[in-house]
Amino acid sequence: MSVESVTIVGGGVAGLTAGCALADAGYRVRLLERRPYVGGRASSYQHPGAGEVIDNCQHIVLGCCTSLVALYQRIGAAEDVQWFSDFTFLEPGGRRSPLSPSPLPAPLHTTPSFLASRCFSVADKLAIARGIRYFLLHSPPDQGENFAQWLVRFKQTPAAVERFWKPVLASALNESPELISMRYAAKVFREVFLFSPQGGRMGVPRVPLSVLYGKAADYIAARGGEVLLRTGVDAIQASGSQWLLRSGAESFSSDAVVLALPFEALQRLLPAMPSAPGTERLATNLEQFRHSPITSVHLWFDRVVTDLDHAVLLDRTIEWLYNKSRLQPAYRTHPGSYLELVVSASKSLVPMERQQIIDTAMRELAEFLPEVNNAVLLKAAVTKEVRATYSIFPGLDALRPTAESPWRGIFLAGDWTATGWPSTMEGAARSGFLAAEAIARLQGSPQKFLPPDLPPTGLMRLFA
Ligand SMILES: Cc1cc2nc3c(=O)[nH]c(=O)nc-3n(C[C@H](O)[C@H](O)[C@H](O)COP(=O)(O)OP(=O)(O)OC[C@H]3O[C@@H](n4cnc5c(N)ncnc54)[C@H](O)[C@@H]3O)c2cc1C
Repeated sequence: MSVESVTIVGGGVAGLTAGCALADAGYRVRLLERRPYVGGRASSYQHPGAGEVIDNCQHIVLGCCTSLVALYQRIGAAEDVQWFSDFTFLEPGGRRSPLSPSPLPAPLHTTPSFLASRCFSVADKLAIARGIRYFLLHSPPDQGENFAQWLVRFKQTPAAVERFWKPVLASALNESPELISMRYAAKVFREVFLFSPQGGRMGVPRVPLSVLYGKAADYIAARGGEVLLRTGVDAIQASGSQWLLRSGAESFSSDAVVLALPFEALQRLLPAMPSAPGTERLATNLEQFRHSPITSVHLWFDRVVTDLDHAVLLDRTIEWLYNKSRLQPAYRTHPGSYLELVVSASKSLVPMERQQIIDTAMRELAEFLPEVNNAVLLKAAVTKEVRATYSIFPGLDALRPTAESPWRGIFLAGDWTATGWPSTMEGAARSGFLAAEAIARLQGSPQKFLPPDLPPTGLMRLFA
């Protein structure tokens, strides 16, 4: 099959990654996005209540996210990400426990600061060390035991669970432990904490997310492609050797298509696509995916209330603190400070009123940062993303399709497809590269777009 033109449906990280790779490889790319901006679930917008441009939520990237980093390098956005190797665990009352890498070889690099941390007792540290030993030696399958059962089996103390495993793993995977597959718990832990100091670095965008991902749209356009916003696809049908995509009264045709949609959007589109062997199975599998929410509270104070760039907040509803005034200074004209507080897997906050969430966040934040008691809260906003990510429950891998779809010439991408990664921008970027590789394969070309993983370093070369 000869493919010259490709239409990508969906301008999130998956669609943009596929578009950039294919445009670079010489394909004629057209990207259709339903919303008035690109970035999908990782975007920023003018918040009507706050009168400021805010990210829908703070998004972070990790050093092990090689496909996402490759995308940033390709589109000239590598400098838009600021990298941190140190994390601060903050207790109510303000006591800080920094966790940072030392010159020791992996997996021992964070051991000195972990042993020195004051937020864990000796019993907690012994329990966590037992857990780390397991992850050092095992890459469990996606079936069977969930993370909550594992925590009990490995006799984790209540503080080890609440102060270490939940902030580290449950928040990275955005789920409660009962709904986390051990395969993904191990993957995140090994890549972030054990394999190498580089893999565990945290990258924070210096620019709003739509500015960051807008560079990918510009990159496609600069290579002869087009990115059409406010163009939602409602139906797809075959037209000779091509595919015809309908968007209201308009239609677009191309040799190949990449559907880079969230799973629920693909579910809605399926009835408007031709039936083919495998479509029923795809529809049945999609029905089993579930969403998990994330809530952020945005607070603007009249003064500086902390010198921290970011912190893990222990023992309270609010979990992560991002000091946006320090992280995105060029985009902040406000003289005081703008903080964003993030709560992962925030099921209990979803039914709560906006003001109730703000009151809770303010009360708790004052316990961590006493200066909040002296500051004036100038304005606040709450963003609830009910469909932030999908649950990574045991057995989900069996339901995740590869880039190959039931239709010849149509390919699937999106963080929920079979990438071996959880619901993240990295999973989305990988899926975009994999879809581009599948298109190249269709033409008999073994072209590779997916960059290699970070290699394990130090002693981890023996365990990986
Ligand atoms: C609050 C929140 C916090 C997060 N935090 C992090 C984080 O810190 N780190 C991290 O790595 N990940 C994080 N994630 C997850 C990350 O944002 C997603 O995994 C990733 O952005 C998914 O990208 P995608 O391209 O697969 O899907 P999407 O971003 O959902 O993109 C799909 C696109 O398709 C468009 N679309 C839908 N239907 C149609 C149609 N019919 N026609 C045309 N277009 C259509 C949508 O408008 C959307 O732009 C977070 C997500 C949220 C919501």
